[in-house]
Order: sequence, then C-alpha cells, then structure tokens
Amino acid sequence: MKKQLLYEGKAKQVYTTDQSDLLVLSYKNEATAFNGKKKASFNGKGRYNNLISAYLFTYLADHGVPSHFKQTLSDTEQLVQQTTIIPLEVVVRNLATGSIVKRLGIEEKTVFDPPLIEFYFKEDALDDPIINDQHALLLTDATVEELDQIKSYALKVNHVLQSFFDTIEVKLVDFKLEFGRDRLGEIVLADEISPDTCRLWDKTTEAKLDKDVFRQGTGDLITVYDTILKRLEAVK
Ligand code: UDP
Repeated sequence: MKKQLLYEGKAKQVYTTDQSDLLVLSYKNEATAFNGKKKASFNGKGRYNNLISAYLFTYLADHGVPSHFKQTLSDTEQLVQQTTIIPLEVVVRNLATGSIVKRLGIEEKTVFDPPLIEFYFKEDALDDPIINDQHALLLTDATVEELDQIKSYALKVNHVLQSFFDTIEVKLVDFKLEFGRDRLGEIVLADEISPDTCRLWDKTTEAKLDKDVFRQGTGDLITVYDTILKRLEAVK
C-alpha cells in the first residue's frame, strides 16, 4: 500500500500509495514542544495518537463534520484522502490557559462563551504567529467564504467533541485544527485530533490528560494518553 515517503513532520510521516488521491499517515513516537526545542521519544505514543485521532474523526464524520480520514490500517498507520493543506492552525478555546493567558493577561480558567477561535500562520521559521482574518487572506489562498466555512466547522467540532468528552468525564479546554481542500475543492478537516493537539482535563480533578504533562514535565505522557484511549474505548 505504502509507496514512497512524501513528507516527514515532527510527529508523522506521510506516504504516497497506489492511488493518487490517498495517503498513508504513519504516527511516530516522537513528542516535541516549544516548536521542536524540546524533544523526546515515547514507546507507544504513535499508536495512541493514531487510534485516538481515528476514533475522533470517525465520531465527527458521524456527526456531520467531513475529514480526510478513511480508515485505520494498523496500530500506527491510517489511510487518508490527499488534501492541500491551508497553512493555518485554527485554535478553539473554551477555557483560558496556555499562550492566551500570557499574551493577553487573561486569568487562568476564564470561561469563553462563546468559544474563542484564533488563527495562527503555520510557518515554523516565524514560530507560527497569531494572525487575524485579513492576514489569513493575505498569507494563504483561502477565500472569505472558505474562512467562514473553516470557522463554522471549528465551532461544530468544538460543540460535538465537548459533549462527547463530557460523557467520558473529560473537559475539552482548547484544541488546534488544520483544514485542507479535497480534490473537488471542498474544505475538509485534516491532520490529527489527539492529546498532542488538544488540552484535555479530567472533569473532576482537572488533572491534565494531554501533551502538557510533557511540555511542563509534570507527568508521564504514556499514562495519560492511555487514560484517554481507555475512556474512548469504553464508550459503546
Ligand atoms: N496547539 C497545537 N499545536 C501548536 C500549537 C498549539 O496542537 O503548534 C494546541 C495546543 O495543544 C492547545 C491549543 O492548540 O490545545 C492552544 O495552544 P496555545 O496557543 O495555548 O499554545 P501553547 O500554550 O501550547 O504554546
């Protein structure tokens, strides 16, 4: 199925396949933080992100959010539709933590209702700066209508996943999405949704169940990713 390595990122490899519009994503065990400045490898991390992301994309598809995800191929690999990625990181926030607390002096855990949507320009050399809609129109080839579609999908993902995570006793604090255009030019959700890209807190204890335990060196990444996968798998 896999033909040739097309691209290697910090957390995934992307391979071409026999079919021109299908790609294989292979999840790596590497964890990075602070734009690659902190790095480590965790046995099993690739499996967790592959299975968690597959689960969430399937759940979202069942609830009206189209994505590039097709099927799981193995513990660490999944088949996806090829898309042209729009170089934006779309962050949705329900509770204040992380960069927004520092940047704007907002008190930790302030509730955002309605949720906040932010765009960051996906450019490692610039450290992914935060941008507004006008910048996004200038820096990417996305149209006004596409940005509206992206924002509407981002809010829908938030709504669907917030209620879902609530059923497994998890607070969806914030998360990052990426979008691409499929071969028909339609906007679809792409990349991954996993504890690498979301902040997930235990509903009762507010214990962090995401990559912040690695970023901040406060816990064991595999233990908390395992907690998320087990809670997902317990839902039937
Ligand atoms: N995020 C991500 N990739 C990035 C930056 C942020 O997946 O390159 C996610 C991060 O895990 C969190 C949300 O987006 O769930 C908001 O992150 P924030 O802007 O607070 O950045 P940080 O504090 O991690 O620098």
